[in-house]
Amino acid sequence: MSDIISIKDINLAGKKVFIRCDFNVPQDDFLNITDDRRIRSAIPTIRYCLDNGCSVILASHLGRPKEISSKYSLEPVAKRLARLMSKDVIMAKDVIGEDAKNKATNLKAGEILLLENLRFEKGETKNDENLAKELASFAEVYINDAFGVCHRAHSSVEAITKFFDEEHKGAGFLLQKEIDFAQNLIKYPTRPFVAVVGGSKVSGKLQALTNLLPKIDKLIIGGGMAFTFLKAQGYDIGNSLLEEGLIEEAKNILTKGKELGVKIYLPVDVIAAQTCSQEAVMKYVPIQEIPAGWMGLDIGPASGRLFREVLADAQTIWWNGPMGVFEIDKFSKGSIKMSHYISESNATTVVGGGDTADVVARARDTDEMTFISTGGGASLELIEGKELPGVKPLKAKVIE
Ligand code: AMP
Repeated sequence: MSDIISIKDINLAGKKVFIRCDFNVPQDDFLNITDDRRIRSAIPTIRYCLDNGCSVILASHLGRPKEISSKYSLEPVAKRLARLMSKDVIMAKDVIGEDAKNKATNLKAGEILLLENLRFEKGETKNDENLAKELASFAEVYINDAFGVCHRAHSSVEAITKFFDEEHKGAGFLLQKEIDFAQNLIKYPTRPFVAVVGGSKVSGKLQALTNLLPKIDKLIIGGGMAFTFLKAQGYDIGNSLLEEGLIEEAKNILTKGKELGVKIYLPVDVIAAQTCSQEAVMKYVPIQEIPAGWMGLDIGPASGRLFREVLADAQTIWWNGPMGVFEIDKFSKGSIKMSHYISESNATTVVGGGDTADVVARARDTDEMTFISTGGGASLELIEGKELPGVKPLKAKVIE
């Protein structure tokens, strides 16, 4: 288990609690929330506080507003949360303005207040201490349950922790679950442990790959990043995605894998097209036969079968990154099939990254996975072995 201070270690009874949530939910053109997983994930912590006689002040960011705009208001989140909890949610008109202050001061036990989008305050992303101090003044206890932003030193994530001592700050249930899962995965995986990586860039996952190699038994590489590895092996990859500057690094990973006895698998065939669009003419080709001017946009059927074989005896599977350009139907089959193979296995299955969670949802496999991380960047940084700025201040000090 982690050494992080849990909400359960704090005497909450009757206190005013500030909970940093991650309500950064996707919305359609009419501002309807299209996926409320992040809101639902926050409920256990909120309920726990209410059951302890607390009043609860919730805060989150939503999108990347350049200025205050109703488009980025958390109002729809307040409505959805109220519906999910069958309980009123008071909405503040601002973050630390008069309305928020009044409502926070007058908040009674059992009531929920949601502040406006934290990023309406310029100081939020600058880790501004003045903003943090104002936010901290609203409550007696600080709880962080926003795993998705823990890799960022923002005011409501990092600076704010300076205004609470160890008895008055800690991690909510969601944050704790995320950290425990990532730590257990790295420290005590049941073997064989297979990592499946994909997505567009080697650069974004290089550190995670390097950190994972000594811990895993097999590595499957798909998606756009596979082509830098295929190029490193001497294949002609046509116009496929390539990070020229990382070919040497890819060679190093392949060599290191060999030294460590990690079996590494790359696609043996691809779906190729001349343009990345639904209208493009496509063909299935072995990777030896990618025509000049064409690019690989999904793994082919033979690769799918190969990867299914590789996964067959896995006891732990960690998946981050789609196998192809899954956003376009034509090139989504490889990723959808990978989701099915992983979800049908008997292994402990851990999925990280927003895109990958999206693939799993489209494949209707969400309920079949053991754990789907709510934070893309944060989950990758945990696997990379980094200490997250939002988590570090919540660690209990060891008394010698
Ligand atoms: P990442 O953010 O690195 O996990 O990358 C996710 C993105 O990778 C998705 O938007 C996919 O469309 C893209 N992707 C996956 N496979 C390929 C490919 N073969 N060529 C280009 N982009 C790809």
